Amino acid sequence: MKIKSWLECINCLKSYDLFDLRYTCKCGGLLDVKRDLSRVNSKKLVRKWEERWGMKNGAASSGVWRYKELILDTDRKNIVSKQEGNTRLYPSGKAGLYAGLPKLLLKHEGENPTGSFKDRGMTCGTTAANIIGAKIVACASTGNTSASMAAYAAKAGFKSVIFIPSGKIAYGKLAQALAYGGKTLQVEGNFDDAMALVQDVCKELNIYLLNSINPFRIEGQKAICFEILQQLDWNVPDWFIIPGGNLGNNTALSKALMELYELEIIKKIPRIAVIQAAGANPLYTMWKNKTSFVPVKNPETIATAIKIGNPISWEKSLRGIEWSNGVVEEATEQEIMEAKAMVDAAGIGAEPASCCVVAGAKKLVAAGVIDKKASAVGILTGNLLKDPDAVINYHFDKLRGIGVNGQFKNMPVQIPATIEAVKRAIDN
Ligand SMILES: *Cc1c(COP(=O)(O)O)cnc(C)c1O
Ligand SMILES: [Zn+2]
Repeated sequence: MKIKSWLECINCLKSYDLFDLRYTCKCGGLLDVKRDLSRVNSKKLVRKWEERWGMKNGAASSGVWRYKELILDTDRKNIVSKQEGNTRLYPSGKAGLYAGLPKLLLKHEGENPTGSFKDRGMTCGTTAANIIGAKIVACASTGNTSASMAAYAAKAGFKSVIFIPSGKIAYGKLAQALAYGGKTLQVEGNFDDAMALVQDVCKELNIYLLNSINPFRIEGQKAICFEILQQLDWNVPDWFIIPGGNLGNNTALSKALMELYELEIIKKIPRIAVIQAAGANPLYTMWKNKTSFVPVKNPETIATAIKIGNPISWEKSLRGIEWSNGVVEEATEQEIMEAKAMVDAAGIGAEPASCCVVAGAKKLVAAGVIDKKASAVGILTGNLLKDPDAVINYHFDKLRGIGVNGQFKNMPVQIPATIEAVKRAIDN
């Protein structure tokens, strides 16, 4: 039995058909996918999810479509999937010790098909595009959304149009967008300018918008939370720690938790900590000063995935943080890159934005907000190889210009081809 679902405005509560082609309400408010969970048998539902665990093929082998009842319940023929998800949950090792939080686990969403969690939202977004009958899809992106959209559009046979800030995206991500065949437009200005433009373009040219303002992106990303909890046998950690850029992913996390809580699949509400880069911190500023939301005009950070001054989903994000009795923290460039050196040196590795999780954990433990004995899951959002420049520049100590000293640097050593020289280098 399919669960009845529809779109609902977060401000005026007006409802729309699930596949009404709109991203905001008539009043301008953001839209949510709502569900009638009142008649769901949660025990049966969890049993189904357990039966699908480890399936070898078909939609249920995807770490998103395994949970289709709470994502998007549609015929298999509509589904555009690359068996996304099914990512690992690692003990944090050195990185957790560095943060002072030894029980920290790291969920590596960089292990998705295109190297970031965006694939979870994109499989759902492109499936919705299929259902609606779209032929062209578009997004503004700091890199990973475009890489993911281009790959899923290629699979589905859609044309994809990508709006990126000119000259400011990590090379691995740009390379993917081009390689997967996305029509890539380098827009003069920053991400926020590109985001404003793509919204106008989609309206004007009738193109399907696949940014996280699209409620189906959020639905797909909820699967990160479902999968983590399934990996933990539905034992809820004390904390979830997650980076915040456009604030779609932490919106998805809290929405997933709210639904599981309503279904009594979980009986405890974990606290959510959202970590922003100090140079792109509008949510943090609002949170700390208890003021209204003010966008950051010229966001700047080496964590380019979260270099966003005017995040689309801030209202939804805040709603979830408050519901979970959560917190918002920020991390400086030095803190992000130092934490990244630790995540990388633990043999796990992730891109800079992801490592805000460990940088933020360290600060929140030091401040006594997170107890050092607490259980926590941090979400590593993207793969280490997405941004090789950040890695190389750190280890060659070339980031002093942006205030980062390469304290944990691991430079390559030039040696003559002799055993003696090798011995010296190893002993050093
Ligand atoms: C997109 C992205 C983020 C930010 O997610 P939001 O939903 O925009 O807050 C963080 N890290 C990486 C690697 C990303 O690609
Ligand atoms: Zn409304």
